[in-house]
Amino acid sequence: RSRVSARIAGITPSATLAVDAKAKALKAEGRPVIGFGAGQPDFPTPDYIVEAAAAAVHERANHGYTAAGGLPELREALAAKTLRDSDFACDPSQILVTNGGKQAVYSAFATLLDPGDEVLLLAPYWTTYPESITLAGGVPVQVTADESTGYRVTVEQLEAARTERTKVLLFNSPSNPTGAVYPRDEVEAIGRWALEHGIWVVTDEIYEHLVYDGATAASMPAVVPELADQTLILNGVAKTYSMTGWRVGWIIGPQDVIKAASSFQSHLCGNVANVSQRAALAAVAGPLDAVHQMREAFDVRRKRIVSLLSAIEGVECPTPEGAFYAYPSVKALLGKEIRGQRPENTVELADLILREVEVAVVPGEAFGTPGYFRFSYALAESDLVEGVNRVASLLAEAK
Ligand code: PLP
Repeated sequence: RSRVSARIAGITPSATLAVDAKAKALKAEGRPVIGFGAGQPDFPTPDYIVEAAAAAVHERANHGYTAAGGLPELREALAAKTLRDSDFACDPSQILVTNGGKQAVYSAFATLLDPGDEVLLLAPYWTTYPESITLAGGVPVQVTADESTGYRVTVEQLEAARTERTKVLLFNSPSNPTGAVYPRDEVEAIGRWALEHGIWVVTDEIYEHLVYDGATAASMPAVVPELADQTLILNGVAKTYSMTGWRVGWIIGPQDVIKAASSFQSHLCGNVANVSQRAALAAVAGPLDAVHQMREAFDVRRKRIVSLLSAIEGVECPTPEGAFYAYPSVKALLGKEIRGQRPENTVELADLILREVEVAVVPGEAFGTPGYFRFSYALAESDLVEGVNRVASLLAEAK
């Protein structure tokens, strides 16, 4: 018998982690590596949130368990926040507080899927999605969009991928890794299609506040209200409030599903750390000024990185309208000779870039679409410029 279960052994080692591990090893040797890999804001958590958490630590009431579903005050605040930000009304009993958006993803699929149920997975996708679907016994069915449509899929593509086993459509706008934001009319068309075919929607809205150029992140069940009874909204404080380490996310959905997911959570982890929930309460009940300041900073870097990347021959970089990633195609450079080597795919090219100019980027293979790189622009602008310049000078040698 094998020591590790087939289910866990089947998890694909992440290409993101492979690059990251190499970058970290180089850094540990004292090399001046510039990393575009990290999917987290580089700002500290805003003061008022940290202070609320510091005060909460001293309260005896916060030293015990909370309800599995989360602090009642936090769920109230999340319902109010969802109405404010997404124009979607829900009751606190429809909310489950999870250990980060990541656990929201796992719990959503564990709660919805039976073995063999198919999930339409829009690619390029966030690395965690296919693993969480597979672990729950589901089958990810990839539907791919490329730069020619701004990385957005159409209803026709979804319809072509639909089978009688299709149970869920997984939607993520703004998207990690592409930064694509679906305009409201496309969100509506996709929502109506899901409604018509009785397909559940899991919509990951974790980047909702990071939108640029006047784009807005429309929430599917707000745009198609009849869909609410077959939709789970996933969200979290990590990206919006620079709170990646605090581990607070949530799921909003119909009461019966949230009840089932809460029961699962009560055995899985009990509840999210009480103090973290207090910090999240201060975040979501508070103003959005700090968020807007961070967004401004990201916007400056976004413009900078897109213009620098677009200037490189062989690199095609659509302008992302959301999140903090650029996702350029580098297909034109594959198979060319660079410093005596001929990388045939983006894993090899990323490896070459890391070795030769000490810049870490994540290859598209990690997101289901070889031929691309993901650059996170959540790093200091001076590093951003230096890093892209190094890549540009290396790629200029391609022949
Ligand atoms: N959803 C998407 C699309 C993400 O990119 C991430 C983080 O990278 C998450 C969810 C989960 O974030 P966390 O678990 O830190 O709340």
